[in-house]
Amino acid sequence: KLNSHPSGRHFLQIPGPSTVPDRILRAMDYPTIDHRGPEFQALGKKVLADIKKVFQTQSPVVIYPSSGTGAWEAALVNTLSPGDHVLMYETGHFATLWKKLAERLSLKPEFIQGDWRHGADAAQIEARLAEDTGHSIKAVCVVHNETSTGVTSNIAAVRRAIDNARHPALLLVDTISSLGSIDYRHDEWGVDVTISGSQKGLMLPPGLSFNAVSEKALAASKQAKLPRAFWAWDEIIAANQNGFWPYTPATNLLYGLSEACDMLFEEGLSNVFARHQRHALATREAVQAWGLEVLCQNPAEYSGVLTAVVMPKDANGQHHSADALRKVILNHFNMSLGQGLGKLSGWVFRIGHLGDFNDLTLCGTLSGVEMGLDLAKVPHQRGGVLAALSSLAHSAKVPLAQA
Ligand code: PLP
Repeated sequence: KLNSHPSGRHFLQIPGPSTVPDRILRAMDYPTIDHRGPEFQALGKKVLADIKKVFQTQSPVVIYPSSGTGAWEAALVNTLSPGDHVLMYETGHFATLWKKLAERLSLKPEFIQGDWRHGADAAQIEARLAEDTGHSIKAVCVVHNETSTGVTSNIAAVRRAIDNARHPALLLVDTISSLGSIDYRHDEWGVDVTISGSQKGLMLPPGLSFNAVSEKALAASKQAKLPRAFWAWDEIIAANQNGFWPYTPATNLLYGLSEACDMLFEEGLSNVFARHQRHALATREAVQAWGLEVLCQNPAEYSGVLTAVVMPKDANGQHHSADALRKVILNHFNMSLGQGLGKLSGWVFRIGHLGDFNDLTLCGTLSGVEMGLDLAKVPHQRGGVLAALSSLAHSAKVPLAQA
């Protein structure tokens, strides 16, 4: 008889949604309150102040009750007009989806081709902007952490590229899978709109998304002509002044957001970022010990959030199936790993090591992968877990507070 109720907890090691910690689940398990009353107002003011610290900004952050895709759309419709040219960079599947969304909104995206193994090349962006002497390009759009590939892009370098070209384009950055996991600085890096979502580094369920909005982006929104109603920043920012929303907000997710911010600040953002880098390094050590290949080809661009792994080839030059491996691991060990997306489908899998995650969660995750490689008869060398343990032992860790 098949075991329909596996014991122990499920390992949700996809690169988001990430595991929601008990503290956040408990924080959301309260009655929904009057969203126009004083108790809500205190909550609204708290989360609006807290979330700015996570984006490292003094500017307003708009919170939507939507998945990240809504915040992608919001960033474009608030700042641009029909037919506007936008420069986008093909880092992978999510950059491609954002470009398609821009096309559906009647924008004219120009897609700088990428190989899905490197981040956005700032030099290429600078060269293209320098050619655009008539300033027809209105925005540059980059995905900070490309969740399909485990490759990050250097946003400060993209900012410098725009400045070097003396180009007035807005800079729009997707941090849906990096915010709260990888260092990100909206103000310092001169980003005009930063887009994010709740279900990854913020450790919440899916359902909230964000736009952090610079003064320049706010000014652009006054001229922008794309139709917008639900996504319009002006009414939301006006209502937010008093801690309210112009419509019914996702109250219980906001309880969760308040708790998530408390958790991030208690640990300290820089410790959170360092923890993610440390686990990412140990994961890569494991992958290398297995004799497998990390998809990301530039060490400076390795993601702290996930590691995408290339399946080895058989004697006929065909990749072993990543989906067969993931199925074995789900069936035997109750662990979900990320599938290969878009053109990576079938030959790449992704290990998520983000959010509410520690050394032992990493050990469990990598043990599941190593046992799965054996069971699925994927050619590899043993010793990945041991290599990760050794990496953890040798890399600096912020100790837990003494009891
Ligand atoms: N951008 C990135 C980098 C993502 O990882 C995702 C989702 O995984 C999205 C955009 C789309 O967000 P959502 O699925 O929440 O709409």
